[in-house]
Amino acid sequence: MSDYKDIAEKLRARLDDLLQRAEVIEDDLRHPLDADWEEQAVDLADDEALEGVDTVLRDEIHQIRLALLRIENGTYGTCAICGEEISRERLEARPIATRCINCA
Ligand SMILES: [Zn+2]
Repeated sequence: MSDYKDIAEKLRARLDDLLQRAEVIEDDLRHPLDADWEEQAVDLADDEALEGVDTVLRDEIHQIRLALLRIENGTYGTCAICGEEISRERLEARPIATRCINCA
C-alpha cells in the first residue's frame, strides 16, 4: 500500500488556507451596505464577484475533504472508473484527482 502522508499534509495545509480565505470572504459579505446609492451598486457588484469565488472555494474545500477521507479509508489513489492505481506523479500534481490519466 502506498503512503500518502505527505500528500495528506499538503491537502490539510491547502484546506486550512482555503478555510481562512472563505472566512474572510464571508466577513466581507456580511458588512452593511453603504448608504450612498452609487457606493451600494459597487458594493453589490463586489459581493456578486465574491459569491462566485466563494462557490469555487467551497467546491475545492469539498474536494479536498473527500480526498482526505479517501486517504483515511484507503481508497485514495485508486481510479474511480477503472480501479487502477493513479500514478504518484499525477497525484502530486493534482492531489484531488479521482481518476487515472487514461480515464480523466
Ligand atoms: Zn482509470
